[in-house]
Amino acid sequence: MPELVFFSGTMDCGKSTLALQIEHNRSARGLQGMIFTRDDRAGEGKLSSRLGLVTDAVEVEDDQDVYAYVVDHLSKGGRADYVIADEAQFLAPEQIDQLARVVDDLGIDVFAFGITTDFRSKLFPGSQRLVELADRVEVLQVEALCWCGARATHNARTIGGRMVVEGAQVVVGDVDQSEDIGYEVLCRRHHSRRTTAASARAGVLSPDVLPVDAVSRT
Ligand SMILES: [Zn+2]
Repeated sequence: MPELVFFSGTMDCGKSTLALQIEHNRSARGLQGMIFTRDDRAGEGKLSSRLGLVTDAVEVEDDQDVYAYVVDHLSKGGRADYVIADEAQFLAPEQIDQLARVVDDLGIDVFAFGITTDFRSKLFPGSQRLVELADRVEVLQVEALCWCGARATHNARTIGGRMVVEGAQVVVGDVDQSEDIGYEVLCRRHHSRRTTAASARAGVLSPDVLPVDAVSRT
């Protein structure tokens, strides 16, 4: 049975590396995939991993019907033995519905990869729809660690090294460089305390933080 599978996790959990590995393994067996992505760090129409691997992909646009795109590709004699959708958190919920239709109406496996929650620890709309629709959700827990050594489960946005919890869900390109926006993965405790590696080093604690031993029993 074809499946819609959602591989989800934090920013540094190795999603794109796994996407590229699935692509490699299947093409080595003579299968041909269709790869969608959106706002990859390597630029438009690319799927890349932190480890430096990169492959060409179809850049998904706003309001694009990805189901219609696959149907069109097939009707022109193209092949799509499976579909990979990377950066799926950036897809619209409607586009996730279209991916589910690729599975149900065309009988093609769809492997979606995405960050589960944003820097405020809220679900991305695309990821929410995937959780709702996927046949399987695989939570990737690779090497991502908080600065304290605990498993990093949350994404933080920083400006000038300080964690922020306000702002647009997605900031892409053309960002005012003076703002110096960065991202860091943290454990839930340090996400809720807004303690980044830089602020921990500086010994800066947010004002609402209790001493560690006062909360260690909770
Ligand atoms: Zn931590």
